[in-house]
Amino acid sequence: MADRYLSLTGTAPGRFLTRRLGLPQPARLRRWSAERPTLQGRLLHLTAGKSDLDLAPGLALAGLDLDLVPAGSALDLGTENPVAVVLDATGVRDVDTLAEVHAALHPAVRSVAGSGRIVVLGSPPDPADHHQAAVQQGLEGFVRSLGKEIGRGRTVNLVRLTDARAAESTFRFLLSPRSAYVSGQVIEVGGGDGAGAGAGAGSGAGSGEMVAPADWGRPLAGRTALVTGAARGIGEAVAATLARDGARVVCLDVPAAGSDLAAVAGRLGGVALALDITAADAGARIADALPEGLDVLVHNAGITRDRRLVNMPAERWSSVLDVNLASVLRTTDALLTGGTLRPGGRVVATASIAGIAGNAGQTNYAASKAGIVGLVRSLGPRALSEYGVTVNAVAPGFIETRMTAAVPLFIREAGRRMNSLAQGGLPVDVAETTAWFASPGSGAVNGQVVRVCGQSLLGA
Ligand code: NAD
Repeated sequence: MADRYLSLTGTAPGRFLTRRLGLPQPARLRRWSAERPTLQGRLLHLTAGKSDLDLAPGLALAGLDLDLVPAGSALDLGTENPVAVVLDATGVRDVDTLAEVHAALHPAVRSVAGSGRIVVLGSPPDPADHHQAAVQQGLEGFVRSLGKEIGRGRTVNLVRLTDARAAESTFRFLLSPRSAYVSGQVIEVGGGDGAGAGAGAGSGAGSGEMVAPADWGRPLAGRTALVTGAARGIGEAVAATLARDGARVVCLDVPAAGSDLAAVAGRLGGVALALDITAADAGARIADALPEGLDVLVHNAGITRDRRLVNMPAERWSSVLDVNLASVLRTTDALLTGGTLRPGGRVVATASIAGIAGNAGQTNYAASKAGIVGLVRSLGPRALSEYGVTVNAVAPGFIETRMTAAVPLFIREAGRRMNSLAQGGLPVDVAETTAWFASPGSGAVNGQVVRVCGQSLLGA
């Protein structure tokens, strides 16, 4: 279902009218295309506090198509519009140096180009230093607030890290058109040796394999990826995006979706696997189909059976929990312990903002999706140390699919507009985030739940 309001505000009279009425002004987001795969323009590097981060080589390594304006260089912000800003605030340890965040960004914010990116770098809050912990946590409130006010398709995210080299794949994602619908997120990136980013869920322990891809344009070349629920919607986009990135894709969906599934797999040069993921032997059947092993496992299949709890029969509860959570637990366990998921492997599961914020009529669905968050946080560190496999989740917000096209008009419009970017996301936005998690370069990204929601106001 097309977003007619977005089309309307893209015309001069429509923009005039909606502005006069004080209505939301969604910008047309700049997404990845083969012709324009990267952001182009100036990347302004700013600092607040005394940083120990070796950032310049980290950013240089990232090989972005961006023209780096190093910290301390003068840029005439009246005439130059940076397309990206990286503010290194890792050295902020007290309220006085927190003021340097304001001093650095206050003059720059206005000049950041439309669909531009602001990435703030922070340090993990230090449990032994409550002043540092307070102001580093303060950065979270700062970033989330700036994301809500900046507009024009610009995004603001916070990356907590200790080693810039470990964040190369994350810089490549956040400072590119691929992250168009990701804003207001806090992402922890562990050290290059997989030693973890410090406090909090997601500090991956153990030795994650983080390999810089030979070709960042096709980071998944030579890798095999399995995507569940790939016959349509978000799963189809995930399979297409992983194939674009070089993966051999195995597309799984229920036998009833067989012809759509075969068409998707055929178009992507992949393989179709018609299988109900809730089957007790699904893990064994996937393992049989992949004797050479698996590198990327994407749990995307999901269903809704909405009813308020008071009216919800047990079957509605159990069918949702079975597809969305129990089968994810079962197949992940089988493929990890059976050795099908190779070292360096990646598991990406699908949560939802409903699992974070809760939603009336969705106690079953929200329980299953919050369960995914729990799974990722618990298994991530252990899977990395025991199997060399990372485990992360995407949490989509309002994404334009058949699922959301079926939502009644008024609720659908509210869902589309109630986020900082004032529009719904596209399946490809979830797919790009999945591809970043799946990259061989993302070994230091583990136990993370990243919302692909345009910074939804729900559960923010
Ligand atoms: P969709 O209904 O369009 O597609 C889901 C696919 O999963 C279908 O092809 C379906 O056949 C398949 N599937 C369902 N049960 C299966 C089973 N037992 N075995 C194998 N395949 C099965 O849904 P979508 O909108 O593309 O959503 C994909 C995922 O994203 C789901 O997990 C969903 O909960 C989640 N999500 C979607 C949104 C959104 O706005 N669309 C928001 C938050 C989360």
